[in-house]
Amino acid sequence: MKKIEVGVLGATGMVGQNFIRFLDGHPWFEVTWLGASDRSVGKPYHEAAAWRLEGDMPEAVARLTVQECKPETKAPKLVFSAMDASVATEIERAFAEAGHYVVSNSRNHRMEPDVPLLVPEINAAHLKLLEHQHKRGWKGAIVTNPNCSTVALTMGLAPLKPFGITQVIATTMQAVSGAGYPGVASFDIVGNVIPFIGGEEAKMESETLKILGEFAGDHIEFLPARVSSHCNRVPVLDGHTVTASVSLSRKATLQELIEAYDAFTAEPQKLKLPSAPPKPVLYLHAENRPQPRRDAWRDKGMTVTVGRLRTCAVLDYKFVCMAHNTIRGAAGAAVLNAELMVAQGYLK
Ligand code: NAP
Repeated sequence: MKKIEVGVLGATGMVGQNFIRFLDGHPWFEVTWLGASDRSVGKPYHEAAAWRLEGDMPEAVARLTVQECKPETKAPKLVFSAMDASVATEIERAFAEAGHYVVSNSRNHRMEPDVPLLVPEINAAHLKLLEHQHKRGWKGAIVTNPNCSTVALTMGLAPLKPFGITQVIATTMQAVSGAGYPGVASFDIVGNVIPFIGGEEAKMESETLKILGEFAGDHIEFLPARVSSHCNRVPVLDGHTVTASVSLSRKATLQELIEAYDAFTAEPQKLKLPSAPPKPVLYLHAENRPQPRRDAWRDKGMTVTVGRLRTCAVLDYKFVCMAHNTIRGAAGAAVLNAELMVAQGYLK
């Protein structure tokens, strides 16, 4: 199959670099266009971007010239967006209006009623919203992935959804790579915990209900549950850990819930999408797992690990879940979204 050309908006930033690394050697997609701010436009990528990830900058991309983030710069039809949130709203909209499919990691459009907030293993049906998005007069579309900590939580909750989730209390321990570069000052985070991440708790609480909601014709019927979250930054490099307590409307034994985790599989696995891990939610039976340093990179960072399911003295059950925040929670999530869109014929 001839590879599909793709672009990256915000290619020089931390998430942009993660896109470039994740897409290196991708069997379906080839990065042929890069966009960033005036600071970078006209420069070869290797000059515009200070590479901050392990390994070298992929050679073919290093030579590309960074373009203005305008659709008339011959950007490919499919563009991934890692735009700074202060400019993402207008730029992503301009690309969608001009006929591009924008698969975005930025928060700006996530909660708009006709924009899918996609986690392919949980809500592939939400892509049907795109038919309604075209009513805006756009020739293209915008599809988003959730905030990084929300991905970990919703994947940990998804296998429990058939048991009727009614209440969730979640506490995060979030890696420093989630704050971009230079992120949190080392003086603040080394040997410390910061119990505040601006805007994060509200995002987790609202996005979770949309993701776990049902497609209802022209909108998403949000999951009728209550979610409360506490978000903390901890001195971990990669991998957001979430501890969660949950109430279920259907009585279930511990064994039934663990079986639900073990049996959980979904559309990306059925379609054998290139970035789909064989087991999207892996239940670990060891009493001290998951751990970010040991489990975040499973299946190139795309597997979400869960463990320590046990009864909760306040709600019904509690567990730990963990996801690689810049892969499953950012670049890898968006690439999997695009793979699903290709497989379902949205990018013809
Ligand atoms: P970042 O490192 O600051 O990168 C921002 C990117 O946007 C750079 O490529 C920058 O280009 C470009 N940009 C800034 N202003 C622009 C303008 N006026 N026109 C065109 N391009 C412009 O940010 P990041 O950490 O990668 O985050 C990117 C997005 O992903 C944000 O919306 C963030 O909230 C979201 N996000 C980040 C993470 C994470 O782990 N960091 C996780 C989830 C979501 P220049 O280099 O040329 O300035």
